[in-house]
Amino acid sequence: MNIKPEQVDLVIVGGGMVGLMLAAALRHSGLHIVVVERAIYQPVRSLGLDCRVSAIVQGNVNILKSVGVWQYLQGKVGEMTAMQILDGQEQGGLHFEALEIGEDKLGVLLENQHFIEALHDTMHENSCVELLCPEKVESVVWKRSHVEVLLSSGRKLHTPLIVGADGGHSWLRQQAGIDVFSRDYAQKGIVATVKPRFSHQYVAMQRFLSSGPLALLPMKGDMCSIVWSATNDRAYDLLALSDEAFQYELNLEVGGVFGGIVEVGSRAAFPLKAQLARHMVRSRLALIGDAAHSIHPLAGLGVNLGIRDAMVLAQEITDARKFDEDYGDMDVLNRYMKQRMPDVLATMASMEALHRTFKVQLPAWIQLRGFGMKALGNAGIIKQLLMKNSTGINLSVPHTIE
Ligand SMILES: Cc1cc2nc3c(=O)[nH]c(=O)nc-3n(C[C@H](O)[C@H](O)[C@H](O)COP(=O)(O)OP(=O)(O)OC[C@H]3O[C@@H](n4cnc5c(N)ncnc54)[C@H](O)[C@@H]3O)c2cc1C
Repeated sequence: MNIKPEQVDLVIVGGGMVGLMLAAALRHSGLHIVVVERAIYQPVRSLGLDCRVSAIVQGNVNILKSVGVWQYLQGKVGEMTAMQILDGQEQGGLHFEALEIGEDKLGVLLENQHFIEALHDTMHENSCVELLCPEKVESVVWKRSHVEVLLSSGRKLHTPLIVGADGGHSWLRQQAGIDVFSRDYAQKGIVATVKPRFSHQYVAMQRFLSSGPLALLPMKGDMCSIVWSATNDRAYDLLALSDEAFQYELNLEVGGVFGGIVEVGSRAAFPLKAQLARHMVRSRLALIGDAAHSIHPLAGLGVNLGIRDAMVLAQEITDARKFDEDYGDMDVLNRYMKQRMPDVLATMASMEALHRTFKVQLPAWIQLRGFGMKALGNAGIIKQLLMKNSTGINLSVPHTIE
């Protein structure tokens, strides 16, 4: 049977945090947007104990407020007012306070499921956005003037632009024949929700151990979320332990932070990889979020980069329409890529440098690292600049799409 194609304005493959963010940013644009997500969407049942959480930096919290997502996150986030970085070799550390840069928070911590639910709620207000979940793309064919998209349900869509927001293993990126540069850390990030003995007081802790970093991030209430990097073998063993044994091992590494851990919740492990697509765009295709770049979760910046991708792409699409430009054209897409590359490359490079700095365990290097941290802690303006950059409040990213 020959199915008649439907003309739509934008197809986004992947309705995770980043794909939905793009749809939310463009929801008042009048464009007919179709989001294709393969997983079933279920409203959140968790009571704040889901182990998949994201730290969202203050610059991006401001974006979420401007886009109208924040109102649906009220009461669901843990606030971070300070961050303490500790060298596992006890060679000092660094302390960052939001007040040092004139902010009340460095960022917030939220469960990924809450974020996705808030993005769905944002879209309900206005519906030029069609959310198809569960749904899959069967095939995609790039033509000169449009892209032909065949869905599993049998619908055929024609669109001037298709966006890959389908994560690190992006199916769409592979269909486009775009290769990736990748670096496997041969480690897993173990995530879990834990209860410390004392209140976290809204402080995030990052302890650099010889095996990799261990982060304790303040959640809503008294709980913390941990991201504990361990070699693949060690991660496998840690996941297999009873709760009591896992808590014991964790306490050996936590080093008394917040009085130690008194309760552990469910655990999961994720492979730690850095990956960068060789091209973020090609004619009538843009990649955003992890489909374009995945980074070590060391500083919790992956989804933060993705939010900024979504905002910049949304603005470029909007600007192109104002000037009657074809937003699937390489001129427009290159403008998106050029704006995003410096932020993406700088973030990836700093994560790699941090990883290497704390991996080396030679005594002289450990001492040097201690001096370096002390010097940075006392270097007022440099420290403030670093904080402004890492919280994203210094970056020029559109906050509202006009
Ligand atoms: C342990 C860990 C901790 C982290 N902590 C943080 C943090 O604190 N802060 C932070 O900023 N980042 C953090 N990150 C990184 C962050 O999780 C990712 O950057 C983020 O999930 C990327 O979002 P995304 O929407 O691009 O991709 P994903 O979250 O992978 O979403 C992709 C979506 O596409 C769908 N999909 C996939 N294939 C298809 C297909 N063929 N068709 C249709 N749909 C498809 C998937 O079902 C999914 O919903 C962490 C990562 C890890 C592993």
